[in-house]
Amino acid sequence: MGDGDRRPRDGARERQRVLLLCAGVIVVLGLTDRLALGYFAWRPLVVRLLWALFVVATALNLRGAGAARTRELMLALAVFSAAFYAALAALTGGVASPLFHWMLALPVAIAVVIQDHPAAIVGSGLTMVAGGIGILAAAGTAPALAWQWSGTAAIMILLAAYVSHSYGRLHAREAALRRAGAEADTRARASEAAIAARDEFLAIAAHELRTPLTSLLLQIDAVERNVSLSPGGVLTEADRQRIGSIARQASRLSGLIDGMLDMSRLTAGRLELNFDRVDLAALARDVAQRFAPDAAAASCAVRIDLPEPLVGLWDEARLDQIVTNLIANAVKYGAGGAIEVEGRGNAEAAQLVVRDHGIGISAEDQERIFRRFERASGQRQHPGLGLGLWITSELCKALGGTIAVASALGAGAAFTVTLPRLSSAALESQRRLPNVGTTRP
Ligand code: ADP
Repeated sequence: MGDGDRRPRDGARERQRVLLLCAGVIVVLGLTDRLALGYFAWRPLVVRLLWALFVVATALNLRGAGAARTRELMLALAVFSAAFYAALAALTGGVASPLFHWMLALPVAIAVVIQDHPAAIVGSGLTMVAGGIGILAAAGTAPALAWQWSGTAAIMILLAAYVSHSYGRLHAREAALRRAGAEADTRARASEAAIAARDEFLAIAAHELRTPLTSLLLQIDAVERNVSLSPGGVLTEADRQRIGSIARQASRLSGLIDGMLDMSRLTAGRLELNFDRVDLAALARDVAQRFAPDAAAASCAVRIDLPEPLVGLWDEARLDQIVTNLIANAVKYGAGGAIEVEGRGNAEAAQLVVRDHGIGISAEDQERIFRRFERASGQRQHPGLGLGLWITSELCKALGGTIAVASALGAGAAFTVTLPRLSSAALESQRRLPNVGTTRP
């Protein structure tokens, strides 16, 4: 259905109500004629009743009418109303009738009732002018006066047509806004449903993939151990390298699946934290150690500057994940340069910096990369899902801390994680476990 077709139906009910009210007013105003004329006459009353019936019939015909039909009905109503009114004025004294003075206001009155049909207003105006000139001619009025009256009538018609046109534009704008709002609502609901379906699919897929992959990783681990226990056995060096490559790919796959699982947990607000005393400095040293083979393969020297223990109440596994993600990125994007892992702390908080001297991140991308699926580098050189930093920043938030980056394109990147040693979340979890002390670490 086109715009023009829909609009009249939007307000058809209101229009019907207004017209029925007008029909009542036309009849009731008969009493004021009587008072003004000082006598009763049947003919004006019959004209009024016919007029009111015409209005009621129009109102009834409006039900279910499309744009074109509504336009025709409004035009007929306006023209016939002017004709009925002229007839009333003629029957109640012509130029001397009290109704004749009000004749000039008729187009404006019709514009108030019909509102957005300028053609109907012009139609009623022309009919009014014809009726008025007829009445003036019947009374033998001088042509100059008739012209004067017609001029005033023309101004009133223009005014009424302008009012009606403006109403029409307003209604059209209002209807367009309503439609745009409804369409935006529908689109928002559809995309929310699509996002929910995607998240659910990712969660299910990650769970389903996790189970066979865990057993695959165990098998690979067993094979690797057997191979290392039988040096000089039946396996060639090429086979050993192949097994190593399978192990690396499987653990990469496992990392991706873990990322998807974390994403669905974080999105659904189902992240569980187990707070305990953890030494961030020792943990960062362990993670750096774990990355030694990857760093060596990427020709990155890892320098560690963790002079003192950094103990806090944190979730050890999640803290490990934060440090792992940052060091993994430093190796991945470090372009074979040195990687520095530094830690400092005060009574309130601990700070860990992971710095590399690789490709760096432009100022425009620095805020974006912490969002879900956002990446700043090409998929070909550095494949990835764009989830690591989002997960890392969500985990930092969950531990009550923050993450920030300082970088420039080609000048490396330094990621700084700041964590309160005792966050409100940690305190809350300690309170829920009565046997665990809440002493400051
Ligand atoms: P992924 O590495 O899978 O793309 P991340 O969320 O870990 O996902 O990183 C998002 C983006 O941030 C990366 O695609 C990369 O463009 C940029 N980035 C992250 N760490 C670094 C870094 N150390 N140096 C340069 N760019 C980085």
